[in-house]
Amino acid sequence: MQTRVLGVRVDVVTMDKAVEILENFIAERVSRVVATANAEMIMATKGDSNLAQILEQADLVVPDGAGVVWAARYQGCKVPERVAGYDLVQRLLAQAASHGYRVYFFGGAEGVADKACQAAKKQYPGLKLAGTRNGFFSAKDERLIIEEIRSTRPDILLVALGVPKQEKWLATHLKELNVPVSIGVGGTFDVMAGNMKRAPLWMQRLNLEWLFRLLMQPKRALRMMALPRFVIAVIGAKKH
Ligand code: UDP
Repeated sequence: MQTRVLGVRVDVVTMDKAVEILENFIAERVSRVVATANAEMIMATKGDSNLAQILEQADLVVPDGAGVVWAARYQGCKVPERVAGYDLVQRLLAQAASHGYRVYFFGGAEGVADKACQAAKKQYPGLKLAGTRNGFFSAKDERLIIEEIRSTRPDILLVALGVPKQEKWLATHLKELNVPVSIGVGGTFDVMAGNMKRAPLWMQRLNLEWLFRLLMQPKRALRMMALPRFVIAVIGAKKH
């Protein structure tokens, strides 16, 4: 089942269901892409029709942000739970370790993907690494990066280039990458590497993860103005 939040399609799935769908994708071995929708991303589609189209064509769009879950429920759609990208990646890594899926970590500053990968290997013993690559590159490196990813034949490709760069990069190269599950993961490697903290559980439960991020990264304040604009737009859309 799907719902729409400000016109953006979001799949109504639980975490368990999302993991099951991704495992099926891996079994089917066709290049597929997963997006994690939050309020900022949905607001970004308003001025970026390319991003809107990418989300429309994604193979799975999970309700990543508390704002998206709230908006869907406000419109009367029973979204069962939040499927945060960070948590989905952890579940996938656990599955990868037990089923032998190979994972490629692409993105983040120099050394961050390596550090995230080392942490993942510790936490999920047996995890098979396909490769790592930092996320700062010029157009002339791109061919090499794609060839490297293709040749290591990952089952899961985690791409941490930030929104919307990661979604656009994946949409452009999806077919040639030939990876069954590719997913844009934003700041996930920074958290896994221990460079950034995730909000404590009590804040996540109170839907205050945005406040934690704002306190930790005040530079995000401007970007985060999208959140109140999102709430106003959702309320406005229901009135019409
Ligand atoms: N990043 C990158 N290449 C770039 C721009 C950003 O690898 O050209 C990385 C950056 O180092 C960070 C992640 O992308 O690890 C973006 O994290 P953020 O928390 O901003 O994610 P978002 O909220 O955009 O999903």
